[in-house]
Amino acid sequence: MSEPLLSIENLITRFPTKRGRLTAVDGVSLTLERRETLGLVGESGSGKSVLGLSVMRLVQPPGMIEAGSIRFAGTSLLDLSTDEMRRLRGQRLAMIFQDPTATLNPVLTIGEQIGEVLRWHLPSIGPAELRERVVEMLDRVGIPNARQRFGDYPHEFSGGMQQRVIIAAALILNPALVIADEPTTALDVTVQAQILDLLRRLKDGEPETAIVLVSHDLGVVGEMCERIAVMYAGNLVEVAPADDILDDPKHPYTVGLIASIPRLDREVGALNPIPGRLADPVTPPPGCKFHARCAHAFERCRVERPVLKTLVPGRQVACHLHD
Ligand code: SF4
Repeated sequence: MSEPLLSIENLITRFPTKRGRLTAVDGVSLTLERRETLGLVGESGSGKSVLGLSVMRLVQPPGMIEAGSIRFAGTSLLDLSTDEMRRLRGQRLAMIFQDPTATLNPVLTIGEQIGEVLRWHLPSIGPAELRERVVEMLDRVGIPNARQRFGDYPHEFSGGMQQRVIIAAALILNPALVIADEPTTALDVTVQAQILDLLRRLKDGEPETAIVLVSHDLGVVGEMCERIAVMYAGNLVEVAPADDILDDPKHPYTVGLIASIPRLDREVGALNPIPGRLADPVTPPPGCKFHARCAHAFERCRVERPVLKTLVPGRQVACHLHD
């Protein structure tokens, strides 16, 4: 069997805080195949964004990756120099962030900002070719009158159009892996649907690109992804094909996430949030980190931390109920 595109082993990422070390990613192991679309879900603070940033080597100091390995297309990312990693980002790895206004530079035109990605990675590219490639990419992500809008500034674009620009910048060099971190959260619902549809179409048109879609919304991820990894308090608690997770979730936390998806056939106000709060990442409880919120917790759950085990090929769960 060929090596997966991405292979993460026992990754630990921590941040020092006044209260002690905060473990955002706590021993995560995960693989991603070429061309796969994987959804990474969990509540805010579950560590999914930090996992994405860790893969990109964009964790801001004093936060740091303390242990583990990340292999991408046969290369150990944690062994690369800062310059080598910078070259890889944009060209082979790309990240789409949640808030386009925070990502785009307000004093540079849209064309300049996307062109900068090309210039950095292809220094010999001429201005005419650069302009053509940027216009073509803007066109592909659905910016109307792309040629005329090349010289516009970010404030002249709506939030949805700005996110399209970010996606254009991320995809212009046909990266092998795109990590999209809550790419629609800052947008209203109709624009959200358009951006997801765009990502789906771009994915179909770019059969070589694998996508990790980071989201707190299992409904969104279920529509977009072939496989889903569920994260809770820094740990992966369930990994399985999307249909299996949605039809037959095994981990009580996944069951809770699915029950909390708003549905049109439920009465207004009849949401089912998971009771309690996310485990403290500085002083996590002993045993299963979910036990204080779990209706199925029993004695063993309070003392022994469950590890991710394979139930059947392709399905993994970390819960004592399934031992
Ligand atoms: Fe609940 Fe125990 Fe499973 Fe944790 S290990 S999810 S507490 S049943």
